[in-house]
Amino acid sequence: MGRPRIREDLALVEGYHSAQVDVAVRLNTNEAPEPPPAGFTEALLAAARGIAWHRYPDRGATALRARIAELESTSARQLTARQVLAANGSNEVLQSLSLAYGGADRVALTFEPTYALHSHIARVCGTRVVEVDRRDDFTLDVEAAVAAVERERPALVFLCSPNNPTGRVEEPDTVRALTEAVEAVDGLLVVDEAYGQFASWSALDLVCEERSVVVTRTFSKTWSAAALRLGYLVGPTWLVDDVEQVVLPYHLDALTQLAGTVALDFEADMRARVATIVSERERLVAGLDALGMTQWPSGANFVLFRPAAPDADEGTRVWQGLVDRSVLVRDCSSWPRLAGCLRVTVGTPAENDAFLTALGEVCAA
Ligand SMILES: *Cc1c(COP(=O)(O)O)cnc(C)c1O
Repeated sequence: MGRPRIREDLALVEGYHSAQVDVAVRLNTNEAPEPPPAGFTEALLAAARGIAWHRYPDRGATALRARIAELESTSARQLTARQVLAANGSNEVLQSLSLAYGGADRVALTFEPTYALHSHIARVCGTRVVEVDRRDDFTLDVEAAVAAVERERPALVFLCSPNNPTGRVEEPDTVRALTEAVEAVDGLLVVDEAYGQFASWSALDLVCEERSVVVTRTFSKTWSAAALRLGYLVGPTWLVDDVEQVVLPYHLDALTQLAGTVALDFEADMRARVATIVSERERLVAGLDALGMTQWPSGANFVLFRPAAPDADEGTRVWQGLVDRSVLVRDCSSWPRLAGCLRVTVGTPAENDAFLTALGEVCAA
């Protein structure tokens, strides 16, 4: 039987998977610990009755985009729907950016360790990926980063802030310096703010027609809606026009568009949940500290920590010990540059207690 072979340049690219282990306490994928309020589900179900199912959905997702522009506007930052593009998760947004600006003969730059999907998606789109190392403490060496941009002349530079999996938030000056470097080589800076609402400032302040900066955000984490698959970008209108050329027609279905707009009616609930998660994060940090863990400052809803000296085996031992106690965290211990590290998502107070208790037992064992 003749059958096709996968593209040569993809044969060695590994897929991206999180362990789906059946445990009581799941703190491995940075989801929100609580569902959206019951009122959201009620309002969505009622509104769904109005969908004209026999018709294609609004191709421009105009209502949703206008609401997102309103959400992200401040007195100093007036955004319009024309600066917003929504898609099925911010992963589709990232893929669309790679399709529009990456591809053969083009380079994408990442600062490692970071979110694996940036390089993965770029490669799938045929883009050559250049990985620049962060310092050992996971801070960004701005001079080295700028030098890499000048040398590689990337079409796309991915900066994740707060960075997954390290938690670090980049300073405004860093983002500005990178923006200038990227513009000097006619590239684009993509700031992935999947955890932006947990951080103290946003690169949304830099977005304007004259700058080559785009910010991506998602409903998956802060909005408690990972199941929804909705993300968006905020950028210059010319970028939105470019990206619209590569998205599939009617890619965002009517129910998703509706669910997004309904979710935005519950912004106050979202802000309250985010505040709780931030205070729980500080409690986790104190608990990890008390157990003698090495950890890195986080502006997100997770904390990267390391049980002992850099040692992949110890990280895996602790991970397994936690699983044995029905607590699942992310095992990063065999990932490049993250030897021995584990990443825990902030859960409910009870889940965080269960995690700290289990970790204490594993460490004592
Ligand atoms: C979770 C996450 C996303 C979210 O992707 P969705 O497709 O919106 O669920 C994007 N970027 C980073 C860095 C993430 O950690």
